[in-house]
Amino acid sequence: MRNLSISFFCTLLIVFATSAGSAQNRSEINIPDILGYKTLKCDFHVHTVFSDGDVWPTIRVQEAWMDGLDVISITDHIEYRPHSQDIDADQNRVYEIAKPLADQIGIILVKGAEITRKMPPGHLNALFLKNANLIEREDWWEACVEAREQGAFIIWNHPGWKAQQPSTQWWSEHTRLTTAGIMRGIEVFNSNEYYPETLKWADEKSLTIFANSDLHTPSGMTYGPGKGHRPVTLVFATEKTEESVKQALFERRTAAYFGDTLVGERRFLTPLFMNSIQVRNVQTRLQNNEIKTIRIYNDSDITFRLKKRQPSVGFSGPASITLEARRTVAVDLEGTSEEVAQMPMLRMYYEVSNLITAKGERLPVNLEVPNK
Ligand SMILES: [Zn+2]
Ligand SMILES: [Zn+2]
Repeated sequence: MRNLSISFFCTLLIVFATSAGSAQNRSEINIPDILGYKTLKCDFHVHTVFSDGDVWPTIRVQEAWMDGLDVISITDHIEYRPHSQDIDADQNRVYEIAKPLADQIGIILVKGAEITRKMPPGHLNALFLKNANLIEREDWWEACVEAREQGAFIIWNHPGWKAQQPSTQWWSEHTRLTTAGIMRGIEVFNSNEYYPETLKWADEKSLTIFANSDLHTPSGMTYGPGKGHRPVTLVFATEKTEESVKQALFERRTAAYFGDTLVGERRFLTPLFMNSIQVRNVQTRLQNNEIKTIRIYNDSDITFRLKKRQPSVGFSGPASITLEARRTVAVDLEGTSEEVAQMPMLRMYYEVSNLITAKGERLPVNLEVPNK
């Protein structure tokens, strides 16, 4: 009897321990799908103890899940491995350790590495590698050519990092890399740094833009509830698969999301904004000298800051509107002419201060509400 109850108690303990151990929280990032693509949340630049990071590879996968990501790439430095006395492994080992957990919890893990050279060309992430050991070359150009031959997608990391160059400058080495079709992407945001001057290069050289964390410490030390989200590269992919992510990167289907700012091509930002909000008509037809209240609901996690860019016809609305994330705002419109009562649609013309187009401009948006 005594034995039985101990065994029963032990079973209970095991069940409890197992369920307690799996009860992790994931903070979902609410940003809508657009244009028939899935909007995947990705971070293509993190480090582990296999180079100069502070965490074990599986922790990067677990963090990615908790931070609401779909895709990560662990990109340890090929040439800089300060823990190599304690961790003596080849360049592929970090991926092999992290991959089973990624598969188990549904994180797409992209095999990557950071080619780490002084400027020029600086640091370059090679994504979708097959064999990272072969990237370890004396000559940086040979390392890049090898990565390309493996089908890798190559990004210029933190191009405005002051420790490498006091002013953000494009070098002839980067022209060589882009002309050869080797360098295809650029970080417009890294860690806590924004490099707006790189948008012009991305536009001119057809580079895919990224916002990556470059985490070395545990994610929770910098990001999380009360601290803000980690930098995210939004990838507009046909499916949630590694192959679709790769295709999207080569076809420049990304946007960079950091703080409350989103940078990307207008063809993505416009539907992203429009799919995030609903304009609701709650009252009767607007007449001259009357006020009508409409409501705008923002279903996304991004707070949109709107500024009027031109006046409406027949009525006036607020000079600025803040559409808080996951909230509804009431907006008063005032009739200013007799003709407004005849207008079937009320149109308002704003620009969104924190949605920045690939040309470096604020995204223009039109809000419409039926007048009835
Ligand atoms: Zn770097
Ligand atoms: Zn790095």
